[in-house]
Amino acid sequence: MSTKKILITGATGQVARRAAEDLAKDNEVWCLARFTDPRIERELAAGDIRTWRWDMDGGTLEGLPDDFTHVMHAAAYRGDGTDFEAAVTMNSLATSRLMTHCHHAESFLFVSTGAVYARKARDHRYVETDPLGRRMGWLPTYPVSKITAEATVCAFSATLDLPATIARLNVAYGPHGHGGMPVALFRRMLAGRPIEVPHEGSDWCNPIHTDDVARQVPLLWEAAAVPARMVNWGGDEMVSIQDMMTFASEITGVPVTFLPSAVTRETDAFDNSLRRALIGNCAVSWRDGLPPTLRAHVPTVRGSGA
Ligand code: NDP
Repeated sequence: MSTKKILITGATGQVARRAAEDLAKDNEVWCLARFTDPRIERELAAGDIRTWRWDMDGGTLEGLPDDFTHVMHAAAYRGDGTDFEAAVTMNSLATSRLMTHCHHAESFLFVSTGAVYARKARDHRYVETDPLGRRMGWLPTYPVSKITAEATVCAFSATLDLPATIARLNVAYGPHGHGGMPVALFRRMLAGRPIEVPHEGSDWCNPIHTDDVARQVPLLWEAAAVPARMVNWGGDEMVSIQDMMTFASEITGVPVTFLPSAVTRETDAFDNSLRRALIGNCAVSWRDGLPPTLRAHVPTVRGSGA
């Protein structure tokens, strides 16, 4: 992809930053955020990325160019767990403002989550047509704010005739930002704290490295349609949280313990058939991607492999 004018929100975070950096090599890339960490704004600017301050919490887009060809909306307010109105309103209104401002674009990509699905058996592989409505014990405001933002994307895609893809992301991990859930769980291990797991069965996931995320963003733009196209966006391999973090323990020597609990991270396994048909396979196996990711976030850890 080259010579396009691209707008990305959330590029100061974990998921979208690599995509912004890769795309900036051959395109004009603008990143919108509050830039709560000014160091990241400087790093993005040094990588030939234009930065523009925008707060989804009522911030205006006045003064921002409106001739973007491609938009990736990855910024999210996950909520405080209790104020549903705030989470729903902020994410939906910000999404509608962004789509309206960029209605001339060729394609709009909304980064959603597998947490929108209503919970089925823990090893169920969710498909795009599965029922929605997760009750997420550890962060109840998150799924509903993503479902309502998805509905906003559907409505504005149709109303504005703006081709859109809603990509429901699985567990993303990589060198930037917070590193993703595997890094968060690894930090628990380093602190000597147990990882919560279900009383029965396992939490499964399809981890996807941000290298694959970055490579697949242009393909997801190509797959956009009116009305908006939904697609699961996870890695090719399904793994349980126990197996992944046991592997992390084996390669680093950091002990892991698991605590059966009623409240866990509630990750999901995906049926990736549609994603594979639309944009092909992933390139990074979680066993290859995890060691350098852990090393990037915790450089002092020993033996984290290739
Ligand atoms: P991060 O928490 O790492 O980053 C959040 C981003 O959103 C930052 O760039 C932040 O920028 C921006 N943001 C937050 N609040 C506002 C606001 N009020 N106004 C403007 N920008 C704001 O998120 P991730 O990278 O982990 O997630 C990106 C997307 O992917 C989200 O939509 C999330 O729902 C989705 N997702 C992520 C998964 C993962 O594994 N990480 C899994 C499934 C879905 P700043 O603070 O500078 O404003």
